[in-house]
Amino acid sequence: MGTVTLSVDAELGWGWHDLDSPPNDRIEAARQSWQRLQGLLSEFSVPATWAIVGHLLLDDCDGRHQSHPAGVDWFERETGEWRERPDLRFGGELVNDLQTARVDHDIGSHTFSHVPLSSDKADRETARAELERSVETAANYGLSMKSFVYPRNRVGHRDLLVEYGFTTYRGNRPKTWVDENDTLGTVAKLVRGTVPGTGPPVVDPVVDEFGLVNIPASLYLFGFEGRARSVAEAVYADPMVLKARHGIDAAADDDGVFHMWLHPNNLVDERDFARMRAILSYVDDRRRAGDVTVATMATVADEVRKRVRA
Ligand SMILES: [Zn+2]
Ligand SMILES: [Zn+2]
Repeated sequence: MGTVTLSVDAELGWGWHDLDSPPNDRIEAARQSWQRLQGLLSEFSVPATWAIVGHLLLDDCDGRHQSHPAGVDWFERETGEWRERPDLRFGGELVNDLQTARVDHDIGSHTFSHVPLSSDKADRETARAELERSVETAANYGLSMKSFVYPRNRVGHRDLLVEYGFTTYRGNRPKTWVDENDTLGTVAKLVRGTVPGTGPPVVDPVVDEFGLVNIPASLYLFGFEGRARSVAEAVYADPMVLKARHGIDAAADDDGVFHMWLHPNNLVDERDFARMRAILSYVDDRRRAGDVTVATMATVADEVRKRVRA
């Protein structure tokens, strides 16, 4: 019996603060989407790993962060366009809600201010500052974080994760599986991706050379959107729901982990919530039937480490 894992990159405005034209519909939906996603997870009793941008846990800031090695320019939007938008920069009450939820969520880190941490994007000092500040702000909430998700999935400075107490991170999807979502040209291709046997992979978490458990992603639940999605949905229902179901089925037949992920702000329209509801409902059905377990990244990592030590 395999495991289903869901990780959530929770960032409010921080996912795009460095972009010239951030997607405003998603930004404006971010808070409500976060709350509704949490509601769905409660409804289906699905615990998730919520990787939180640490800045959300500040009570206030001057928007300058002068001692941060990323430089004041990195935080420019806070002092400019989002100066009067604390709702995009802070989110402590949302994290409080997760902490007191009926479902036992795993609260982890998505850095402090969403600096991509690959070595070409962040030097050591910046990476350290991002980890240190995220751990500090979380400690103010009584959180000791074990799970880490890299902004834009750019993996780097892994040794520093160990230093700051993390045990696991979400790695990149296995390269052996060609993700048609990323290179989608035609609806035909998209639909081919929903045929059983070509679905997303069940992954095997591995302990890396630093002792961290790498739990690679299997499927980004909002990997293709726009016109291709509309056309495909009109003909075949929601192909992403079918893909997710294939992955969950594969986990039921296998011993690995089916690792789905999304941002709360992917949920903008009602059909996005319908997608999540359909997927979570299927997870719940297969769990009730005793076919899969649901576990957060932290729990999966604990189990992998136990097995390795045994
Ligand atoms: Zn700030
Ligand atoms: Zn992110």
